Amino acid sequence: MNKIPMTTPLVEMDGDEMTRVLWRMIKDELIKPFVDLKTEYYDLGLLHRNETGDQVTVNAANATKQYGVAVKCATITPNKQRMEEYPQLKKMWKSPNGTIRSILDGTIFRAPILVNVIKPVVKNWTKPITIARHAYGDVYKSVDFKTEEPGECTMTFKGVSGSVKTVIVKKVAGPAVWQGAHNKERSIRSFAHACFHFAVNTRQDLWFSTKDTIAKVYDGFFKEVFEDVFEEYKAQFKKLGLTYFYTLIDDAVARVIRSEGGFIWACKNYDGDVMSDMVSTAFGSLAMMTSVLVSPGGQYEYEAAHGTVTRHYRRYLEGDETSTNPVATIFAWSGALKKRGELDRSTALEKFGGALERASLDTLEAGMMTRDLVGLVEKGAAVHSLTSKEFICAIRKRLETLLNG
Ligand code: NAP
Ligand code: MG
Repeated sequence: MNKIPMTTPLVEMDGDEMTRVLWRMIKDELIKPFVDLKTEYYDLGLLHRNETGDQVTVNAANATKQYGVAVKCATITPNKQRMEEYPQLKKMWKSPNGTIRSILDGTIFRAPILVNVIKPVVKNWTKPITIARHAYGDVYKSVDFKTEEPGECTMTFKGVSGSVKTVIVKKVAGPAVWQGAHNKERSIRSFAHACFHFAVNTRQDLWFSTKDTIAKVYDGFFKEVFEDVFEEYKAQFKKLGLTYFYTLIDDAVARVIRSEGGFIWACKNYDGDVMSDMVSTAFGSLAMMTSVLVSPGGQYEYEAAHGTVTRHYRRYLEGDETSTNPVATIFAWSGALKKRGELDRSTALEKFGGALERASLDTLEAGMMTRDLVGLVEKGAAVHSLTSKEFICAIRKRLETLLNG
């Protein structure tokens, strides 16, 4: 069989621990035998980030800007415990995802991978719910402190023109905690554009929720910006029969639970963090959640939503064949290959990405899966619990049949 050619390389960002092991298996078993794989390789493994002073992460993000499509393996974000585990670390390096996000200025879209044999906890969810999480600011870029005595806290803005604006936050009679948060119009606007663009691209309705009844100015501004940006997409939405609607976050939660799914739910940073865990858990598992970062410049970075699965990696190092679920990482590759195919007008590559997804889903539908999914399958269905290696081999067999048939 002739391998499918590629014209533009994918930006490949390798990562850490168990997912790095899966990464290799996926490439060797599911991609390289069928595609003449072209990638520009960046090793974002923690030790290589350390050796390069994290320059490799910046280079990988810049390459994504240049080529347009990247696929990323999960990576370790060092914390205190990791600093002890890796004494050679020169610094507590920042989260690679955060670094990449700040260079690409993107929005993250997360959607569950659905299979018939696993029913969501919420019975009426028959279609995926995609969470669009604003990835900048609010509490994630806030300052906070604690005070012990009675007093008054004020917040002051000093404009470059010399203008000054001061408000009293609160006068307190005893110990208190304080927090100052912000967001930027530019970031909110690009978030809105990414959401409307993604809705058009994937032909799904868009919901947006905040708490503008309480945060009248702050959240109210998010709402205004979305309404303003929607004007540019209104005609396209109408043509495609799509709707955009805004509602309060608490009302949105109630509606989402009662819905059948099949839409994008745009959330502010914190809401998106919490709601994406709720949605993925209710659909089945974090290991079945895809994630794509879409930049306003039209660049795409695909990854799995889960981490490096450290607990499994420890067992792997002791010689265990682990049963770690590779599906979300496979879908990161297939998503990137499909997008690359679309941009390069390569139907063969696009079709291959589709076949890889089909083969993975068919394998799951046949009851062959990793251990994490076994308990989620409907009672009565036949199930085989496989190791990662066995599972990937089962997908390969189906993929060969699909591509030859
Ligand atoms: P995690 O790697 O997502 O794993 C948490 C637990 O979820 C695992 O121990 C496992 O449960 C289950 N799990 C997650 N993915 C699975 C899969 N593919 N197959 C089977 N089970 C899966 O999160 P973590 O342990 O909190 O974080 C580990 C490292 O990942 C950290 O260093 C963190 O910085 C990094 N991280 C990276 C990213 C990223 O690069 N995007 C995201 C999150 C975390 P059981 O052990 O019960 O089987
Ligand atoms: Mg979270």
